[in-house]
Amino acid sequence: MTKQYDVVVIGGGHNGLVCGAYLGRNGRKVLVVEAESHLGGASKTREFSEGFKVSAGAHLLTMLNPEVRKDLRLDEHGLKMAAKDLKTIALAADGNNITIDGDSISGGDISAKDQATMKNFHKTMMRFTKLLASAFRNRPPKLVEGDWHDRINLMKLGLGMRMLGREDMRELMRVGLINVYDVLHERFDSELLKGALSLDGLLGSHMAPRSPNTVLGYLYRRLGDLWGYRGPSLPEGGMGAVGEAIASAAKSMGVDIRTNSAVVSINTDAGRATGVTLASGEVIEARIIISNADPKNTFQKLVGIRNIETDFARRVENIRMKGNVAKFHLALDSLPEFKGVSSSELGQRLVIAPDMDYVERAFNPTKYGELCTTPVMEIVIPSIHDRSLAPDGKHVLSAVVQYAPYTLKAGWENEKEHFKQIVIDLLEQYAPGIQSKVVASELLTPEDIESEFHISGGHWHHGEISFDQILMMRGAYGSTQYGTPVDGLYLCGAGAHPGGNVMGLAGRNAAKEVIKRGAAA
Ligand SMILES: Cc1cc2nc3c(=O)[nH]c(=O)nc-3n(C[C@H](O)[C@H](O)[C@H](O)COP(=O)(O)OP(=O)(O)OC[C@H]3O[C@@H](n4cnc5c(N)ncnc54)[C@H](O)[C@@H]3O)c2cc1C
Repeated sequence: MTKQYDVVVIGGGHNGLVCGAYLGRNGRKVLVVEAESHLGGASKTREFSEGFKVSAGAHLLTMLNPEVRKDLRLDEHGLKMAAKDLKTIALAADGNNITIDGDSISGGDISAKDQATMKNFHKTMMRFTKLLASAFRNRPPKLVEGDWHDRINLMKLGLGMRMLGREDMRELMRVGLINVYDVLHERFDSELLKGALSLDGLLGSHMAPRSPNTVLGYLYRRLGDLWGYRGPSLPEGGMGAVGEAIASAAKSMGVDIRTNSAVVSINTDAGRATGVTLASGEVIEARIIISNADPKNTFQKLVGIRNIETDFARRVENIRMKGNVAKFHLALDSLPEFKGVSSSELGQRLVIAPDMDYVERAFNPTKYGELCTTPVMEIVIPSIHDRSLAPDGKHVLSAVVQYAPYTLKAGWENEKEHFKQIVIDLLEQYAPGIQSKVVASELLTPEDIESEFHISGGHWHHGEISFDQILMMRGAYGSTQYGTPVDGLYLCGAGAHPGGNVMGLAGRNAAKEVIKRGAAA
């Protein structure tokens, strides 16, 4: 006999699993159905060449929410770090690199003035991030028609602004609406430092330093610092270990999980979700359906445009989520040597973003669907810290390659090998001889990311993090408090508030909202 469930969660990404776990803990009978054979979504470890494993999507744990980690006892469920608090090394072509460690900067052309400015800058940014974070723990408040929860949350936000004091408040209004280029340019001298810092405002987005919303991106990235992580971490076993630990926690709370179970439709009757149909044809009924898939995927493919009203369909269509990132993996027969990087520093986060104009220019061609020939990169060699990822003496290199447009005029099928060579040639400039150490390589274009992880447009955050798409604007108006115009259908993924990265808050908040509404009780 088919088991009855209160809730079906579509997608076993980390947010779907977190959502399922919180609901399971609250006594709901939950089933998570995942299209792929693995759990964790874009936080996944897999072999890409015999014996070489890599975090195929997300590769650094920067902001796993500590409350989620504690509530779900993830450490007891096997989550361990192979390395913590990585420093960032901004690579210079001549090896005169800069090291960024929280609010400390050293090396290269760094002056005493830049060092002092960095301390102040970091403090100010952290005060602003704190304000952002206070809004992230709850569902986003509705501006009108809200209930007393919304009014309290709005008041808290307003009070948080007031508590900043006049100067900070004025500065927040000013910098929030300009861009990270201007903000860094007016403070710092070192071009290399500015290039590397600007990356934190735009990694994973379709933006460059001069784009609006990049200061917001920078503050968003600082959430990890606020939650006690001085720098990114590398989970033991790769990023897949995060999903495995959450899945183990969810199972211990009675959640059933089925992999290789793609949902092909969310079934509705008179505007209410009634269940899901799997690719096998099996129908699973439940009063509550929660989607970890991105909003476009959820409404356009699974609910179907014909089943939602026109205005909402248009808003979903207009969600800005153009992927502009590729992922690059190398299997190496020995450790590479990067100019100016000692062997003890090689396991840190390395970035290629020599100055902000370089980054801006790298973005330019991709706006018009053209190939970027001078990409920006975030590189890590996780096998230095975690020997389970590569055979003895060998290593894996993982890189986020920023500026690879989802829609390439010449077609990725024609340009993929060319772009791969561009990336290898760029690496060769910073790590001479690396090419001769390559045993195997893999490039995932945004199209590949879309098909491997089921993310529309291959977008890192399931939708740009920008003022028009955060808080009460995230998802799309009409689905901003996790509930949607389809009764009984909720969102719980990165496309919902507060957004992407391996953080867990979207899943947690969505579960809390379902519980609060007494849905599926
Ligand atoms: C290349 C790349 C690099 C990144 N690097 C980092 C990083 O270093 N650090 C970081 O914190 N974040 C990084 N991110 C962002 C991070 O991976 C995402 O924001 C995060 O994975 C979102 O989690 P999620 O659970 O909401 O969604 P996902 O991880 O996208 O999970 C959604 C799940 O739903 C499943 N699904 C979708 N449709 C269906 C269906 N019809 N039926 C059943 N299942 C379905 C998918 O298979 C998937 O498992 C990166 C993202 C990308 C693409």
